[in-house]
Amino acid sequence: MNCKLCKKSIENYHSEFNQLKIDESHKVNICLDCINKFMKWQQETYAKLFPTKIAKKYMEKINKKIIS
Ligand SMILES: [Zn+2]
Repeated sequence: MNCKLCKKSIENYHSEFNQLKIDESHKVNICLDCINKFMKWQQETYAKLFPTKIAKKYMEKINKKIIS
């Protein structure tokens, strides 16, 4: 069983941990290393986006107060 992303063989393959089910006909096998990288990438992305999201919500609240 090889990882879809890095093409390396997946050690201690477990369908619960290593199989990402997209839908009934699409399943991909991902190794733990790639999962960790993916999680790290997501966390970093959210960390970058989150302050912007809060700022946006805050501005929306202020705008609503001005309108009403
Ligand atoms: Zn991988």
